[in-house]
Amino acid sequence: MITSKTSSLQCKICMQTFICTTSEAKCKEHAEARHPKNDLFQCFPHLKN
Ligand SMILES: [Zn+2]
Repeated sequence: MITSKTSSLQCKICMQTFICTTSEAKCKEHAEARHPKNDLFQCFPHLKN
């Protein structure tokens, strides 16, 4: 599936994409599971806003 910039989230570290309805909790889960050494905001900079 082709995802547009506005309708999907992407982890900036592993480039995995998530549907836009993915909650912040799910993003955190991903970051903690896949990138325990990285900051959450390195994976998902948009969460800073
Ligand atoms: Zn990732």
